Amino acid sequence: MHCRSYRRVVLAALLAPLAAAPVATTAAALPHNVILLIGDGMGMAHVEAARLYNGGPLPFESAPHQAQVVTDSYTSSLLGVPTDSAASATAISTAHKVHNTVVSVAIPGDGSEFETIGEFFTSKNKSVGLVTTSYLTDATPAAMAAHAVFRFDTARIVNDYLTRTRPAVLLGGGGNGLTEAAGVAAGYTVVTDRAQMQALAPAPGVPVLGLFGDGGEGMGFEWDYAEGTDTAYDTLPFLHEMTSTALSLLATDPDGFFLMIENENTDLAGHSSGAGEERIGRDVFAALELGRAAQEALAFAAGRDDTLVIVTADHETGGLQILADNGAGNLPTVSWSTSDHTRTQVGAWAFGPNADLVTGTIDNTDIRRIASVPEPGTALLVAGGVIALALRARRS
Ligand SMILES: [Zn+2]
Repeated sequence: MHCRSYRRVVLAALLAPLAAAPVATTAAALPHNVILLIGDGMGMAHVEAARLYNGGPLPFESAPHQAQVVTDSYTSSLLGVPTDSAASATAISTAHKVHNTVVSVAIPGDGSEFETIGEFFTSKNKSVGLVTTSYLTDATPAAMAAHAVFRFDTARIVNDYLTRTRPAVLLGGGGNGLTEAAGVAAGYTVVTDRAQMQALAPAPGVPVLGLFGDGGEGMGFEWDYAEGTDTAYDTLPFLHEMTSTALSLLATDPDGFFLMIENENTDLAGHSSGAGEERIGRDVFAALELGRAAQEALAFAAGRDDTLVIVTADHETGGLQILADNGAGNLPTVSWSTSDHTRTQVGAWAFGPNADLVTGTIDNTDIRRIASVPEPGTALLVAGGVIALALRARRS
């Protein structure tokens, strides 16, 4: 009896401040909207190279809260190898470390599905959007809203998108398992070029699928277009244009949204070989384009206090080092140590509610926790407190 009443007092004391406190701290409520921008392979040196070419900071570098991010996967801790995009995107999306090539399922483990960040926000009645310059079935978008033991199981990923998780907005490269016909059959409005995309009017309840280009590694390098060696962006939308459309479509949901925006081209540039101008040019122009997409996100979030914007990378690619600043408008002199991923920590920049949790050195699994505070973060904290106090009560 004494024990039970003590517990009631303890519980009341623990919960009263939570219940009574207004939403004063930034971490007290789930952000209404979350915009997560990922530069695939975009280490800090890649951002620096873009800054030097730009002659000034990229839009997201003015973030009030910044951190270094550990990108290791389960495989990294076991074998010392860098993560791949599947494992790192799974960590970001689900807060779980998995083996390389695994997309949001428990490996190691029983192979069961982890709740993705897309599924989490869907469970809060929010709309989900995925935007990428890569093909839409690639590992980074897939880990946000699909599950697969192996990242190249595109049939499984397409099935999850179209029949299970059904993101409201999917904009990116086509092919690699995702066809126009499949999108139409699943009830999506399908667009295939910039003009069609920009003519879209929001239609509540009707999801949008933008398939830009028919496969390969993605939609094309921004550098190649600027150099006149590729004409893809004559008719296909740039990442910042897809971002703008995605924001205008998702903003019609009064319950809010989660939007992931990825530029794959920083990774593809890092993967190429040699030290020629093309490699760093492609890398710099991709980082600059991610900056333009971030600018769209920040313009959306400006003047409102309910939208968390996080810019980060899934890992570094290429072992990039800056050797000399050649001034604005000129590519810096650089060296590359590899044509693969590295374990170098990457950056994170954050604005809005919960952004203050992006500080110091964080783990890639923290991104999901920060984006979804107070759930499960605060709930776990409260549960831990209740258990600790109950144990004390039992002892007394
Ligand atoms: Zn890569």
